[in-house]
Amino acid sequence: LMQLYTPLNFLGMVYREIKQALVDMEVMFALKDQPPEVADAPDAPDLRRNGGAVRFEGVRFAYGPDRDVLRGIDLEVPAGRTVAIVGPSGAGKSTIGRLLYRFYDVTDGRVTIDGQDVRAVTQASLRGAIGVVPQDTVLFNDTIGYNIAYGNPEAPWADVERAARLASLHDFIMGLPLGYETRVGERGLKLSGGEKQRVAIARAILKDPAILLFDEATSQLDSHTEKEIQAALRQVSAGRTTLVIAHRLSTVIDADRIVVLEDGRAAESGTHVELLARGGAYAALWAKQQQALDPDDAPDGQDARR
Ligand code: ADP
Ligand code: MG
Repeated sequence: LMQLYTPLNFLGMVYREIKQALVDMEVMFALKDQPPEVADAPDAPDLRRNGGAVRFEGVRFAYGPDRDVLRGIDLEVPAGRTVAIVGPSGAGKSTIGRLLYRFYDVTDGRVTIDGQDVRAVTQASLRGAIGVVPQDTVLFNDTIGYNIAYGNPEAPWADVERAARLASLHDFIMGLPLGYETRVGERGLKLSGGEKQRVAIARAILKDPAILLFDEATSQLDSHTEKEIQAALRQVSAGRTTLVIAHRLSTVIDADRIVVLEDGRAAESGTHVELLARGGAYAALWAKQQQALDPDDAPDGQDARR
């Protein structure tokens, strides 16, 4: 029996490694960029986790020689807290996430986690500490249960179901013809943007990272879906250091701090209430979004205002 068991066990290991590689690939595609241009420093140690406090110190970054995308960013997300980044399209919000995940190295300044420069630790340990909920989640042509289990291929089934519950997906899944065995993806059931994002949230819950990076989908969601995603986000961000890149200001109201990025710089920062009182860029964005959420324009024909 052992003779049969050992090769199967070995295959299982290879299979898990391939699955993990696919997860990493997915994240790479989701953050929409080229393969990493960074390498581990020789003898780099693993990241020592201690709560997952994130700091950007004087960070400058350019994709090419022509133009600086980030022009001196100082940002602190204390362990367990939530910081939201808002601002116009092209301001550099997603770039901040890519630098934290170290798809690129900063041009100047540094990014640290628990005091350790992300360039000084192994990429495997760095990326193992960060859960990413990308703007656009890629699903594999497999069952929905399998797609969720990607978050942690080692997890027992009970944990997969628990993650689905926390991500407000379980009831939806139980309503599908084959439940968790329902095939999704290009050749199966097509999930909506909101459902896909909840699959990504469930994966992140399974991965159980110290740091969560949530890049909100840009597409409009109906108000019901939006509320479900927000509830799921609240679940997964509890007790984790969370960086939310937000397009809908309704997502950021509860953040401990909101940073308004404009033209590669932090134009303003504070809580929702502080920033509204300030009457600056954030207050203007807020007014604009409230107007855009006019009941007649809401995608599901209902009042999407909070
Ligand atoms: P945001 O998320 O705020 O919309 P991004 O961080 O995605 O903005 O992009 C900031 C700027 O950098 C934009 O002008 C964008 O066109 C540019 N940019 C993003 N990715 C790349 C890339 N891979 N190569 C060159 N320029 C890029
Ligand atoms: Mg973006």
